[in-house]
Amino acid sequence: MQDSADGLRRVDPGYRAARGKIRFSKTEVLHIAAAIAVLSIAFSLIMRDSYLDPDPTKNIILIVGMSFMLVVCSFLFHEFGHKFVAQRYNTWSEFRAYPAGLAMALFFSLVIGVLFAAPGAVYIRGNIDTAMNGKISLAGPAVNFVIAAIAIGVCLMLDPSTLIYSIIRMLAYLNAFLGLFNMLPIMPFDGSKIVRWSIPIYVITAAIGAVEFIIIYTSVV
Ligand SMILES: [Zn+2]
Repeated sequence: MQDSADGLRRVDPGYRAARGKIRFSKTEVLHIAAAIAVLSIAFSLIMRDSYLDPDPTKNIILIVGMSFMLVVCSFLFHEFGHKFVAQRYNTWSEFRAYPAGLAMALFFSLVIGVLFAAPGAVYIRGNIDTAMNGKISLAGPAVNFVIAAIAIGVCLMLDPSTLIYSIIRMLAYLNAFLGLFNMLPIMPFDGSKIVRWSIPIYVITAAIGAVEFIIIYTSVV
């Protein structure tokens, strides 16, 4: 998600927006680290019964490592998509975690075994019009759909009985799902801002995501 809600007024930028440059403040790095850590733990909890290696210690290391990679290559890259495009437009743009959303992620992964989370959002401050907002919003799901397409392509070249195939397939699934979920055309999802900018671009992007999701969900790969 990407948000330009009123809440950003309570956020201390920590720096002045530099022209078009990608920048991170210390506060933002802490928020990203917290979100990545909690989501990786939540994902590991969901995968806790996975059998990836006969050695129990190695098995845990593999589960945590895989969870971390999946979180970074889906959730984090989505948020970076928003942030980097917004900073290209000379805005102040930073990620902030939602503590309650992260706590919810831990709760659901532990009790129900599903990942249900609102980990945070990229906040933006600056002069942006509807088109800029649409492009900034598009960047998140677009990153997910590109990663999903690459992962689907890699899966087609791998032996389905291997562990690496299962991991890459999960990467494809997660990205297609995350991108599609955020394409919902209702506030505060990215889709609502893309629709306001361009209906054709919204339809094409959502269609790409839907095709990817169907390919993975119906086990074509
Ligand atoms: Zn988003």
